[in-house]
Formats: sequence, structure tokens, C-alpha cells
Amino acid sequence: MRLRIIITTILLILGISLLNGQETEKIIKSIFDAALTDQTAYKHLEYLCKNTKGRLPGSAAVAEAVEYTRQALIKAGADSVWLQKVPVPHWERGHEECRAISSVLGIADLTISALGFSVGTTTDGLLAEVIEVKDFNELKNLGRQKIEGKIVFFNRAADNTLINTFAAYGGAVNQRIQGASEASKYGAIAVIVRSATNALHDFPHTGVTRYADDVTKIPAVAVSTVDAELLSRWLKKDPSTRISLISTCMNYPDTWSYNVIGEIKGSVRPNEFITAGGHLDAWDISEGAHDDAGGCVQAIEMIRLYKSLNIRPKRTIRAVMFMNEEMSGTGGRTYAAEASAKGEIHYAALESDRGVMSPRGFGFEAEGERLEKLQSLSKWFQPYNIRDFDKGGGGSDISPLRTMGTLLIGNIPDIQRYFYYHHSANDTFDKVNIRELQMGSAANASLIYLIDLLDM
Ligand SMILES: [Zn+2]
Repeated sequence: MRLRIIITTILLILGISLLNGQETEKIIKSIFDAALTDQTAYKHLEYLCKNTKGRLPGSAAVAEAVEYTRQALIKAGADSVWLQKVPVPHWERGHEECRAISSVLGIADLTISALGFSVGTTTDGLLAEVIEVKDFNELKNLGRQKIEGKIVFFNRAADNTLINTFAAYGGAVNQRIQGASEASKYGAIAVIVRSATNALHDFPHTGVTRYADDVTKIPAVAVSTVDAELLSRWLKKDPSTRISLISTCMNYPDTWSYNVIGEIKGSVRPNEFITAGGHLDAWDISEGAHDDAGGCVQAIEMIRLYKSLNIRPKRTIRAVMFMNEEMSGTGGRTYAAEASAKGEIHYAALESDRGVMSPRGFGFEAEGERLEKLQSLSKWFQPYNIRDFDKGGGGSDISPLRTMGTLLIGNIPDIQRYFYYHHSANDTFDKVNIRELQMGSAANASLIYLIDLLDM
């Protein structure tokens, strides 16, 4: 036994890959076994969901989440844990009410949620006719004459024939991000945007809207898909249907929050870094279970697993809970800027921000031989039915590390249900299955273990 440890240590020091041995298989199995028989990560998730719900930057909830995860990293056994100061925006939702009013059809309450960064209405709200469009071209063709003084209703649905639900989301989300700005150019007084989701349900899905510099800022809200369908039906039967809208959200001066970082010092190359993480902030209407407390607790779990199994990585391994992914990505940019200023070598970074459903594989920002080498790692995951090792898919928090030559990796779970939860009050603790969370933690920790053994 002792001889084997000595040989292993010598091989590690020489930087010789151990990826062919039974040893690797055993270590991966020990990681899975340990993750699948422990509830620590699930309990962290429960705490974050139930005690720090609505973790938007600037909120008391986010401060609590920062302190909780800092403590969790210490308990997991990280060699050092610290907070990295991050500038963040501060936006708060207000009172919200939305009603469709028709002299033919009556009155219907619509379920809405203001979009992040949106300006508010007055406390009395506004009342105006509505015009439905599917895209910006339609808006342009209608022109100022038809739009001025009205509320624009963007009602393009996510394409449910797309198996890649992120592509479906991507095909619909420009209405939310640029809709208010585009409609304002033609004199609209507010926008109502169909929630960017595959689901037909009564949860509105929020997210940011962004105003161009040269437009009047007008209120922007998301409406649930069920109520988007209702409003569309009403407008067909009675085009003079009006909307009364109150949304008293506000933008406040920028403030500060933190990235939470814990690391295990590398045993051979301590000045090279591999990070794994998710984002700690979440939308104010949400527990942010899948998006993205799950990704955060998986990163903390990686530290716990390595320490409890006495795995000593060659490089320094960091678990990073990024701040403010949802509104403006300042956590990821701050992390990369500081890494670059310190001259740190960031060898690889893994982001887990697609929900914590069953892991299917990983996406790598790599090409050619490098990609093939990474894809060859899939053999270690065959026993766990984790098979998709493909090109593409880092993550928005780690993307600022790209310019430093860092290998960017995204955890890819089963994504069919993700947008049923994303940015909505439906993203709650009970929607996460403990087994799936544990499988994802084990998959991430195993991949980082293997990547650390490679030299690319
Ligand atoms: Zn997210």
C-alpha cells in the first residue's frame, strides 16, 4: 500500500498521466459513491432556497446567501475561503397589477412580472390600447402611426419543436431583452412580453430588459404564457381591448456584493487554477433552486468530496459562487479581471448553470486534438450513463476567462424541463431531485479530477 502511494506521488510529481489505470476508475467510483450517499449538498440547497429566496444583488437575502456559502465552504474543508468584492446594480420590484378590459368580453386579470432594469409606471398606472406583434419587423412595418401611445404586446412563442430548449429560449428572448427599446422608438408607452419558456403555464418568467441609450425608457413586464394566449384571443375578438398596467419597480444606485471563493491548494502546480462554480444570485420572485443554487452547492460539494476522500489535486481547485450573473455579469468579469491582474494561470473553468437535472455530459470550448482528448474522457463516465462530450457550452460567468486561454466547460444535464422553472416562482427546492443533484455533483467533481491529470 505504502509503495503504491509513493509510486503514485512520484508519477504525480513527474506530471505523468494516470488516466489509463484501474486507479482512475476506482477514484471516480469513490467520488460517485461518496456523493450518492450523502445529503450535505441537498441540505445546503434547501437552506439557500428556503432562507435566501429572491437573492437579487442589493438584497438582504443575497447577503445571507454570501455568508451561508462562505461558512459551507469552510465546513467542506477548503484550505482557504474568501469574498471578492463585486459592483452590482440594485433594482427592486414594486406593486404589480395588469388587467385586460374589453367592452365586449369583460375584464381579465393577467399574471405579470416586471422585467429587471425596467422603469416603473406611476402608482396610478396607465391605461391604453394594445397592439400584438411577433417580431421587430412587424413592429417596423406597423410604424409610429399605429404604435404611438399604445402598449406593444410581444407574443412570439418559444419553438417547441427544438430539442435544444436553450435554442428555443434563444429564439424568443430578444423580445424580452430589446422589446421595450424597440417599441419605444415608435412611441409605445409600455411593453408586455410573452414569457420566454416552453411551458404553457401561469408563471410569468422575468429576466433583464435593456434600453438603448437613445430611447425613452418605458415599463416592461413579462406575462405568463397562459395569459399571453388569453390576451391574443381577446385581441382577435375585440381589437379595441385595453390594458391597465401598474408596475412600480425602481432602479436604485449601484451597490456592492461578493463572489464567494473557496480553494484547495494544488499539490504540484499551486499557481495553476481550475475553477468550478455557478451563480449565487437569483431572481427576486424565485427560490433559484435550478437557477442556480444547485450549481453553487455542487461546487461546494466538490471541495467536500475531495477533502473527505483525501484527493489531492495537482493544480489549485477553486469553487466559485459568482455574483450578479442575472442582471449584468459583474461577478464573472471581476473574477477574471483580478485573475488577470495577478497573472494567475487559469487552466480550466467549469460552469454549472443549466439546472441540476440528471447529468448527460459536458460541453467544451475546444477544437481538434484538444477536443478529442477531452472527448476521450467520456469512457470514465460510461458506467454512470453520462455520454455527451461535445463541443460548445461554457457559461456566462466563466466566459470572461476566455481571453486568458482558459479551457471553458459547461455541465450539460437533461435540459427538457429547465425552462419550466427558469426565472420564475416555479423554480423551487421541491423541483430538484436529490439523486439528480448528487449525480451532477459527482460528475463535475470527477471531470475536474480528470482534467487536472491531463496536460493540454
Ligand atoms: Zn442561471
